[in-house]
Amino acid sequence: MRRAAPVEWDSVVATLRVELSRMQLPSVSQIARFARDPFLILISTMISLRTKDDVTLAASERLFAIARTPATMRSLGDEQIADLIYPAGFYHTKSRHIVEVCTILCERYNGTVPEDVDALVDLPGVGRKTANLVLGLGFGVPAICVDTHVHRIANRQGWVATRTPEQTELALQRLLPRAYWIEINELLVGFGQTTCTPTSPFCSRCPLQSTCRRIGVPRSR
Ligand code: SF4
Repeated sequence: MRRAAPVEWDSVVATLRVELSRMQLPSVSQIARFARDPFLILISTMISLRTKDDVTLAASERLFAIARTPATMRSLGDEQIADLIYPAGFYHTKSRHIVEVCTILCERYNGTVPEDVDALVDLPGVGRKTANLVLGLGFGVPAICVDTHVHRIANRQGWVATRTPEQTELALQRLLPRAYWIEINELLVGFGQTTCTPTSPFCSRCPLQSTCRRIGVPRSR
């Protein structure tokens, strides 16, 4: 099998930054620009799961207008939180998880968010993807948030050959310079929504086309 050429990460990131400058930032990145608060980033990431960006942003703004700390958010109760974050996907389950998370943060962490991936993934409704986004955007700790877009694009490009997002995270940790760990998620999310889409990606107008191995891409536009 042909050996893959080393990835020119500076060039890839520069290209993706130009792409990103033409589109809206992902909702959680917008919230992080506005307030680098690990708690707000945690809650908005929980709201964002299986939810469109504009819905996440509006839902987060409605909730944060009323409560911005674990204690005040917990006191709202899950029914009011559900009303505020509707129509985010699974809003009933998410509102329950938000109250549970706020209770744990108040009782175990003195109302703060732990800066630790194991403690974060222990929280209800929080997986590695959310935990890494909180570490990166909330605390500035190098962490790679691998969502469906990062996983798909990294495999199509041939940067990694993995079956799960968890494997992709580990593989990228070995390949990607640490300086890009936090940024790679927001660079690939919009790119994955507009160009390297899940089915039939737009390879003909893709700025990464010349280096892409297009692994597992049977059809493109
Ligand atoms: S060339 Fe096609 S498969 Fe490769 S990154 Fe671009 S859009 Fe995705």
